[in-house]
Amino acid sequence: MKHNQATLIVVKPDGLKKSLTGNILTRLSETKLEIVAAKVLRVSKELAEEHYSHLKDEPFFGELIKYIQGEMHNRKKTMAMVYWGPDAINKVRQLAGATNPEEAESTTIRGSFGRITTKGLYENVIHASANEEESEREIKLWFSPDDIIVDLYPAQVRTDKECKRRVWA
Ligand code: UDP
Ligand code: MG
Repeated sequence: MKHNQATLIVVKPDGLKKSLTGNILTRLSETKLEIVAAKVLRVSKELAEEHYSHLKDEPFFGELIKYIQGEMHNRKKTMAMVYWGPDAINKVRQLAGATNPEEAESTTIRGSFGRITTKGLYENVIHASANEEESEREIKLWFSPDDIIVDLYPAQVRTDKECKRRVWA
């Protein structure tokens, strides 16, 4: 029996522009994993650079940051989700397919819907964490403990009186 894992999935701006959210959720539900967090958000430059910090020396880094922020698709949003269950990381990576959409099997999400831009960037529709170290780092980057319906990692309570935030008027 494979142990329970959490994994971060992000529908990238090309996935949203191509209206693939429903398709992706349907395929994810076939894994029998549980969805434990979800939100639609605009990716800031800071979040983009931190999320892809391991690639900062790659020639495509600048393009990649613009891509995940939605600047290439006139669609500045992503949908981020956490899925949880046995062998979650590998199950979702299998569904996603290889990083290069031309090498990804045609039945996978990336193989079906990804493309390579004229500049050589892989527009591959979704992000999925590659291993447990990465999923923990990424989930903590994209979500707060209160956004997730299960307790994945140790958290602490902080009372922040000075913190300004909007509430409904
Ligand atoms: N990427 C790219 N060209 C490359 C490698 C990566 O355009 O040669 C992009 C692609 O969008 C990929 C992202 O950078 O999804 C992150 O790269 P990583 O190697 O982490 O691949 P992933 O984990 O997404 O399969
Ligand atoms: Mg990766």
